[in-house]
Parts: sequence; structure tokens; C-alpha cells
Amino acid sequence: MDFGFSQKQKAFQQEVRAWIQENLPDGWKDLDPDYLSDTEEIIHMAVEFEKKMAARGWHAPHYPKKYGGMDASPEEQFIIRQEKYHCGAPSSHNDMMGVDFVGPTILVHGTEEQKDKYVNGLGRGELIFSIGYSEPNAGSDLASLQTRAVRDGDDYVINGVKTFQTNARHSDYCWLAVRTDTEAPKHKGITIFIVDMKSDGIETTPMNNVLGYPHFDETVFNDVRVPATEIVGGLNMGWPVLMTALSYERSIIHPVFYTRRLLEDLVAFAKETPWRDGVLSHNPAVRRKLAELAVENEGAALLGYRVMSLQMKGEIPTYQPAVSYLMVSQHGRHMASAGLDILGRYGQLMGASKRTPLKGRLSAFFLSSIPLGIGGGTFEIQRGIIAKLGLGMG
Ligand SMILES: Cc1cc2nc3c(=O)[nH]c(=O)nc-3n(C[C@H](O)[C@H](O)[C@H](O)COP(=O)(O)OP(=O)(O)OC[C@H]3O[C@@H](n4cnc5c(N)ncnc54)[C@H](O)[C@@H]3O)c2cc1C
Repeated sequence: MDFGFSQKQKAFQQEVRAWIQENLPDGWKDLDPDYLSDTEEIIHMAVEFEKKMAARGWHAPHYPKKYGGMDASPEEQFIIRQEKYHCGAPSSHNDMMGVDFVGPTILVHGTEEQKDKYVNGLGRGELIFSIGYSEPNAGSDLASLQTRAVRDGDDYVINGVKTFQTNARHSDYCWLAVRTDTEAPKHKGITIFIVDMKSDGIETTPMNNVLGYPHFDETVFNDVRVPATEIVGGLNMGWPVLMTALSYERSIIHPVFYTRRLLEDLVAFAKETPWRDGVLSHNPAVRRKLAELAVENEGAALLGYRVMSLQMKGEIPTYQPAVSYLMVSQHGRHMASAGLDILGRYGQLMGASKRTPLKGRLSAFFLSSIPLGIGGGTFEIQRGIIAKLGLGMG
């Protein structure tokens, strides 16, 4: 077992970092920390940047070459994602929702036609997916979803409402969970469809997040026709497909790379900020907080690495993503609050004041860390999975 990178991998890391820094969109650095926002301008910049990464096989490095990837090893995949987030590069969210959650699930459960069209489009940075699971009355208890699809000739007709759909209005396709059998036990009557977001009968309404940006949409499906060929994994077989997709969703580790950047910023801040006769980094309480955050950050990254290596062996991890996701999310929240403590009263500032530390990155992250314990399953849901599948408590 080797936790370090080889010389070749270190050289690759330098290459990726240099390329990303050189290719950040014009004006991007001035927008930071709006990296965390969802304005039209930023999503557009992110999509264009991701297309450039895709041209090198770096947008979906873990995909097969024929679908725009580079058949990357876990280490190469890890390096690319680490550098993308560590450099604070733009993300359209599609690098997660589409590329990391939907694409790999289609590779496991989809038809060859679906792989050729959707995985290929995702790998090349040409398609954006949103995910339609949550409803006004279905969140943690996803199996209680009520959006219906009813067969009509070669099509299904879909009616219902999805909420909290990240990126829905920017997406080309929606990965949609619907009820196709109302008589079956609730986990057994669900089907996954891929729905063209340009179809008649779809209406999206933006929902602002805690930073005041329209991160989500509420989407109404009103008599939306979808060909039966757009079912993934079989009629009424949606639950196992969902479990695969959620396993991928809980495998995310990008917040760890972003918090690593914040940690480095905080260490630099502590080293240069006056305190008593010296600098803040001499303050024992600040040193302890930063050391604790560094330990958490490394632990979370290694847990994420374990999940990635299981996936690269062709396994679909069960409880391991919940372990790493819980750790990643808790660490994110801790980084936000401990970081603000270290920055003191100036930490709350955002915007252009010369007194705003770290360009307001930490205050923005404090707000955006709130959803870390909600999306993809709340802390309680992750602990439930660990108890059931990890500890075998049924
Ligand atoms: C940033 C972000 C992005 C998102 N993007 C999407 C998206 O793209 N597509 C999509 O479909 N959804 C999306 N969601 C929605 C997300 O999946 C749900 O918010 C999440 O599953 C929780 O559901 P809920 O909000 O309805 O909370 P609820 O299920 O109502 O839970 C409320 C509280 O009850 C607790 N609780 C619920 N059940 C249990 C239980 N069995 N045991 C113990 N405690 C329990 C929860 O932990 C929570 O504290 C997103 C959410 C966020 C924050």
C-alpha cells in the first residue's frame, strides 16, 4: 500500500496545475470567491472551461477513451480533481451531477445506445445533466416519490413536480426518478428515465440558495412525453439504479480539495497577521485549531481515495461512500466555523473592503457549507447507512 505519488504522477500533477492556472477564464480570479455562486455568467464560464478540459480527456478522466475520458488510474483521476478544486477553477456542477454521478451509472445500467449518446456527450463536455429525485414531499424518504409516468404507445407521459434540482434550467437532460407502478411496494414501482429538458410541458422556476444565487430549480412536468427507450435499467427497476447513482454521489471528495486551499490560506493568514509581540501563528489555540483541521482534511481525502480505488476495481461500494461523505461534509462545516474563529471579527466581511480577509472566501464558504450536510443524503441518513451496511445491524 503506497499513499504517495510516484515521480511520474508528481510530474503529471505539476502539468495539470500549470495548465489549469494558465487556462482559467479571463477575469476569473477577480470573481473569486463567486466561484461558489450560480450566476448565468459563471455557469457559462465554467461550461466553456470544462470543454477545454474535456479536449484533453480531463473532464471525465475515469471514462473510457472512446467516451472522451482517458481510462485514468485512481491516482490520475484524483490528481486532476484535486488540482481543479485546489486551483479554485470554475465548476458547472455538471462535473459532479452529470460526469461523476449519472455517467458512471449509465455505464453500469444503461444500453449501448445510451452509453454512446449520453456518456460520450458527458465525457466530451457537450452535455449537461440535472438530477430529479426530490419532491415537495419526498427527500430522505426518496422511495415515497409521487411523480408519475404512464405508458402511451411507444412513449411514457410524465406528470409531477421536482424540487431542489441543481442546474435544471441549464441542463440538456434530466436524470429523472418516477413512479411507474402504484400498486407495487414503494421501492419496486420506480423507474429512471432520461428526459430531454427541451420537451414540451417542462417548466423550471429558480430557487435561490443561502448565498442569494439561483442554484436550484423547481421543475414542473406537465404531460411530458418520453420515449420508452429512455428508461435506464428496466421498467420498475429504478431502485437499484438509484442506489448505484447515490453511491457515486456520496463518493465526492472535491470539498476536501477546496478546504485544503482554505487551510493553506488560513495558515498564511496566521503567519502574517500580527498578534501580541509576534504573529497569530504563535497563538497556541490557533495552532491547535489549524493542526486539527489538517488532520481532518487528510483523513477525509484518504477515505475518499479508498472509495475511488474500489470503484476503479469495478466494485460499487456500499457503506464506504457514506463514511467518506460524512467525514467530508463534517470537515467542511468544521473548516467553515473554525476558520471564521481564526479570522476574528473581519472574517464575516465579504466584498471589496480592503479589510476583507481571503477576499471573503471563508465567509462565502461558511454559508455554502450549510448544504454539505443535506444534499446527497443528510448526516442522519449517512449514519443510518453506516449502521445498516457497514456495521451489519440490519
Ligand atoms: C446543495 C443541494 C443540492 C441538491 N441538489 C439536488 C438535485 O440536484 N436533485 C434532487 O433531486 N435533490 C437535490 N437536493 C435535495 C436533497 O437531496 C434533499 O434535500 C435531501 O435528500 C434531504 O431531503 P429533505 O430536504 O426533504 O429533508 P427531509 O427528508 O425532510 O429531512 C429533514 C430532517 O429530518 C431528518 N431525517 C429524515 N429522515 C430521517 C431518518 N430516517 N432518520 C433520521 N433522521 C431523518 C433529516 O436528517 C433532516 O435533518 C439538493 C439539496 C442540496 C442541499
